[in-house]
Amino acid sequence: MTARLELSGITRLYQTGAETVAALGGIDLVIEPGEMLAIVGTSGSGKSTLMNILGCLDRPSGGQYCVGGEDVSTLSPDGLARLRREHFGFVFQRYHLISGLTAAGNVELPAIYTGERSDSRHGRAKAILARLGLGDRLSHRPNQLSGGQQQRVAIGRALMNGGGIILADEPTGALDSRTGETVLALLKELNAEGRTVIIVTHDHGVAAHADRVVEIADGRILSDSRRPAEKRVIPVSTPHKAESPFRPLAAIGFSIIGAISMSLRAMAAQKLRTALTVLGIVIGITAVVAVVGLGEGAQRRVTEELSGLGTNTLTIYRGRDMGDMNAARLSKLTLEDADALAAQPYTDGVTPEMAGSVIARYASRSINMQIQGVGLDYFRVNAMKLKAGRLLTADDLNRVRPSIVLADKTAESLFKDGGDPIGRIILAGKAPATVVGIVEAEHMRGSNGMGYMPHTALRTRLTGDSNLSAITVRLKNGVDSKLAEKALGELLERRHGSRDFNIFNSDQIRKSIERTTSMFALMISALAGVALVVGGIGVMNIMLIAVTERTREIGLRMAVGARQSDIMIQFLIEAVAVCMVGGAAGLGIAFGLSALFNAMQFGLSLIITPGAILLALLSTMLIGLIFGFLPARKAARLDPVDALSRD
Ligand code: ADP
Ligand code: MG
Repeated sequence: MTARLELSGITRLYQTGAETVAALGGIDLVIEPGEMLAIVGTSGSGKSTLMNILGCLDRPSGGQYCVGGEDVSTLSPDGLARLRREHFGFVFQRYHLISGLTAAGNVELPAIYTGERSDSRHGRAKAILARLGLGDRLSHRPNQLSGGQQQRVAIGRALMNGGGIILADEPTGALDSRTGETVLALLKELNAEGRTVIIVTHDHGVAAHADRVVEIADGRILSDSRRPAEKRVIPVSTPHKAESPFRPLAAIGFSIIGAISMSLRAMAAQKLRTALTVLGIVIGITAVVAVVGLGEGAQRRVTEELSGLGTNTLTIYRGRDMGDMNAARLSKLTLEDADALAAQPYTDGVTPEMAGSVIARYASRSINMQIQGVGLDYFRVNAMKLKAGRLLTADDLNRVRPSIVLADKTAESLFKDGGDPIGRIILAGKAPATVVGIVEAEHMRGSNGMGYMPHTALRTRLTGDSNLSAITVRLKNGVDSKLAEKALGELLERRHGSRDFNIFNSDQIRKSIERTTSMFALMISALAGVALVVGGIGVMNIMLIAVTERTREIGLRMAVGARQSDIMIQFLIEAVAVCMVGGAAGLGIAFGLSALFNAMQFGLSLIITPGAILLALLSTMLIGLIFGFLPARKAARLDPVDALSRD
């Protein structure tokens, strides 16, 4: 419904330094729906000031202004924005089209802020432009259009949200007289449909097109003359849909996509500036991803190194500590010890080990080989994988069979002739042994081969010594290895009468290595954090510049009804988009680095995990939000009139 506008005693004061200028000195005016009215006056008479107040872009310093009965003096900036969306369409002397948007995009703009769905918006914008004779210029950008065409696009934009009241400030001022005439004819036509049209001009010729001419000078009304009402049009209500307080997700989604594509275009236009801006982010993200990747690589390396020891194992060796020279002579580990340990509630498997060194022969080949006398659980406890044949069985152990399982590399060098080693008989020292299986061994102990026999067989056939060299205990899942180590130590100490053994705890070692790597990661992460903050400051700087450069655009968006939050969100999204560009570049570089690093085979690899990528993306987003906040708030708090008049 086209609203009635009532002004009584409207003043507008401007404070310039110590001086107060009254741009409007008490205006009383009522504008009925459907009127075509011209406000004329010389430059500086207060026309634009009056129009800004009429259009709710500005608030009066004094007096009362009611739009359709609603007093504007009590309204917040967002309340004024709502009135602008609902009632007003602006046409400016300099068109104020957004240069990055097409003709259709410019016309659609006001409907973005009412939350209209994009397909319906597109359709209406097309129809409006077709009606204005620009049906074939939909995807032209403002700089591809003539002045008259641009002004018609601006009129289309004024119609988009209903256009009940069209406010045109010097609409023909930048046009030649013929083009000006067509624009005026168009405004008349719109008035004939029942819209209120208010034209502000210094040109009496232009004013003559209106039915009513209000002349102002020095902020006061000089005269108010109506043309005799010959065939006055009955005002028709313009279609205006009440907007829902909840904006559809689709509309928000569209404005997000719009903001992103707009900022990407701006960045593409200023490549060097963008590159310098996001450099800090790029470095920071590269560092974050690389650090996490190195940490992951180190972790995997440690896990691999220790996987020969199983996941959670304790190994008991003879002697007070690792280097105890008297270990073999003075202290003993026996099968009974192993059985006692196996009876503990926290053990999942226990394997006695016995070691001997022999020369292994097959055909004409011979190699040095360490033989481990092992129990059934040995392979499982140490998480060793079978490659061919079978592992040792209970039968092998009980019947004291000379079965032997070889490490893969050992089998390779012993059976150089090729062919299947399984089932062949080798000489281990002087005793024959049957190869029953081959296991994968991560590392050979020195250049020696490795073979595994039932400890029963090793003892009787090779060494004759019933002392074990070690006992490896696999702990049950969930058992605290430290507590188990303590309990186990106490048990053995009781059995032996003294602590003549030492315990190697794979989990403790893993933990200490992990602690070292995470310390390292923490340090580089701190450096990465510094780079990110520096990057964030760069982004904040560029966004502040963007707000300054695009002040007019912001003013225009506000004029067509954008809320402060709309502007805020737009700039936040742009800041995030800028950061994301840096983050993506950083990720790319990190991937490149990891490929390079891994190709060089340091033994440590840089592994980029999905978690690291997620971390990188989240931190860039967060930086965009944090450092974009200030510029976005600055943009959102701009005064629409100030912003529009900025050049
Ligand atoms: P017109 O549009 O008729 O040329 P304006 O409404 O723009 O006139 O200006 C009316 C008077 O108010 C002028 O004297 C101008 O200098 C003053 N004025 C307008 N805007 C401002 C402002 N932002 N700050 C101070 N004075 C202003
Ligand atoms: Mg003016």
